[in-house]
Amino acid sequence: MKTVPEYFGCMVFDDRIMKARLSGKIYNSLRKTIDEGAKLDISVANAVAEAMKDWAISLGATHFTHWFQPMTGITAEKHDSFISPSPDGGVIMEFSGKELIKGEPDASSFPSGGLRATFEARGYTAWDPTSYAFIKGKTLCIPTAFCSYGGEALDKKTPLLRSMQALNKQALRILRLFGNDSVKCVRTSVGPEQEYFLVDREIYNKRRDLIFTGRTLFGAKPPKGQEMDDHYFGIIKPRVAAYMAELNEELWKLGVLAKTEHNEVAPAQHELAPIYSTTNIATDHNQLTMEIMQKVAEKHGLVCLLHEKPFAGVNGSGKHNNWSIATDTGINLLTPGETPYENAQFLLFLVAVIKAVDDYQDLLRLSVATAGNDHRLGANEAPPAVVSIFLGDELEGVLEAIENNTPYSAAEKTEMKLGVHVLPKFIRDTTDRNRTSPFAFTGNKFEFRMLGSSNSISCANIMLNSAVAESLKIFADRLETAADFDAELHRIIKETIHEHKRIIFNGNGYDDEWIKEATEKRGLLNLRTTPDCMPYLLSKKNVDMLTRHKVFTETELKSRFEIMLENYTKTVGIEARTMTDIAKKEILPAIENYAADVSAAAAKKLAVDPTLTCGYEKGLVKQLSILTDRIAEKAAELDEAIAKSASISDIAEESCYIRDEILPRMSELRIPCDEAETITSAKYWPFPTYGELLFGVR
Ligand code: ADP
Ligand code: MG
Repeated sequence: MKTVPEYFGCMVFDDRIMKARLSGKIYNSLRKTIDEGAKLDISVANAVAEAMKDWAISLGATHFTHWFQPMTGITAEKHDSFISPSPDGGVIMEFSGKELIKGEPDASSFPSGGLRATFEARGYTAWDPTSYAFIKGKTLCIPTAFCSYGGEALDKKTPLLRSMQALNKQALRILRLFGNDSVKCVRTSVGPEQEYFLVDREIYNKRRDLIFTGRTLFGAKPPKGQEMDDHYFGIIKPRVAAYMAELNEELWKLGVLAKTEHNEVAPAQHELAPIYSTTNIATDHNQLTMEIMQKVAEKHGLVCLLHEKPFAGVNGSGKHNNWSIATDTGINLLTPGETPYENAQFLLFLVAVIKAVDDYQDLLRLSVATAGNDHRLGANEAPPAVVSIFLGDELEGVLEAIENNTPYSAAEKTEMKLGVHVLPKFIRDTTDRNRTSPFAFTGNKFEFRMLGSSNSISCANIMLNSAVAESLKIFADRLETAADFDAELHRIIKETIHEHKRIIFNGNGYDDEWIKEATEKRGLLNLRTTPDCMPYLLSKKNVDMLTRHKVFTETELKSRFEIMLENYTKTVGIEARTMTDIAKKEILPAIENYAADVSAAAAKKLAVDPTLTCGYEKGLVKQLSILTDRIAEKAAELDEAIAKSASISDIAEESCYIRDEILPRMSELRIPCDEAETITSAKYWPFPTYGELLFGVR
């Protein structure tokens, strides 16, 4: 058996393979493209394509695909085989530089939010050489960006790359001002912690709500839920352990740095975290991880649920986006340094993030807005919909001292001065153990915790990178023209703390008191649902910022506004239709059968002894009958609302109607159904219960 170092990345056309299979000249030229974005010559592309093909064929590949990330949030691929006919009736395997660089998938069915009229349906894909090609099954996958012929981004990768570019540009300006001339490039890194549920496939197959919507739409609270806290970090069951082992192996072959695995808080809930990497690669890898998680589950008779809220009354799943900024020379700009000067630079980057999160709370919130995630954010679950930053007492103390010109510790007697004081080292564990903050500083990185488990991490990082680029731009503009650099630097840091400290909150984010304080006293936004958030995408402030940094054009933003709301209305629409369908076709008939049998049993008893009261049967049948009436009534009301929503043509209006009229009716329909489940014989209930789903993997 091969050891992990022997097979790690064996399915990736990574630097090791490039070095081994490309001539020195070709390799250097490709490296220049990867590292510095230099244009790729077609002769180089041809040589790379040839080497990629030979390598892929040697590993059993027969096809290639341009692997891209349309705005559906999942990845897309269209496979083409390498074969080309030869005159003798056989075939040869071919793959050209042109095919490597550019593809033209027939992409007319991908959402474009009006960007691409169907007559010019053919968007194109363009190779992203910064993310390595890899083999999945029998297909060589080439990571690509997906654009329209007008050049508009139709995917989640293009704006992410643009946002990284924007941040790079502004961060370099700042570093130059601090006298750092050796850094060539600044990149953000991300380590996304991925939560998921595993359920037994046979049990899953009996639940049409899970099959159609990824979450349960019905289900009474089981006798045992997560109250014992016995699952978190608990012993991993053998079947789950076997799943995790194979998952790791598959991910490692693909070069994904899967590192940590453990049971999560809810029964049947687990987490996988990779070692962090450059944001673009981390995003590709997270998409791959989600895909492989589902594939491997199938092999083990399991289903991996990535939905944010598969079960009511049980913790949902999120994704923690650990984010930092680092130079190509290996310096993490969010780490306090060894010298006062380095610390002044650290503080400038720190306040840049604080300013960015405060100024663009709306963009951060909407970047994670989906119908699924609305069940977590703003619904008494982790974290709240109000964006705030946790810094920890130590760092907050430092900022306070700077703002107020006071000593920053009791031992010190002099005022906190930048460029004089060395900051205390932040030991990780003395900073964040606060799990309720949406955006927490954890010693050398920020952890953005609002992402939903099924979200692509791309959107959140696009907004984060762009917002921080904007803060840095404003700072650089001032510093570059300042007469006295040190004085201006001090002023910027002090002013920024003063203006943006309202976003800093170290307390319990779940507390109702906090939500009140945040919204009423501090004026922070509390955008609870997707329809609440989305209009902010098109506000002047946000359009100006995102276009200024060339991350989005205004047209692209309008299209994304449409698509995000369309995803929302479609998702809830499917849920609503699935719900009335199950209520009418499965739940009502089941209760009817049961009530009929209970009645028949009572009748039989009465035939034996007419003096019996049959109080139990009569009471039960009455209760069931009241519930069936209510279910029928609530299903009819929901049907009516669904019909009405279909007649609304404006997408923003429709999404509000769905939030205000459809979702509440779904909750109303669920109540009598779940109640009926608790008094109906298990034998009659048409699908597995929460107890079976949550404790069914044995
Ligand atoms: P937890 O938050 O569960 O305590 P860790 O903080 O150890 O776990 O790690 C969470 C994730 O943060 C991992 O994916 C890890 O690789 C990532 N991470 C660690 N350091 C950085 C960094 N400098 N930049 C980005 N991500 C990082
Ligand atoms: Mg974490």
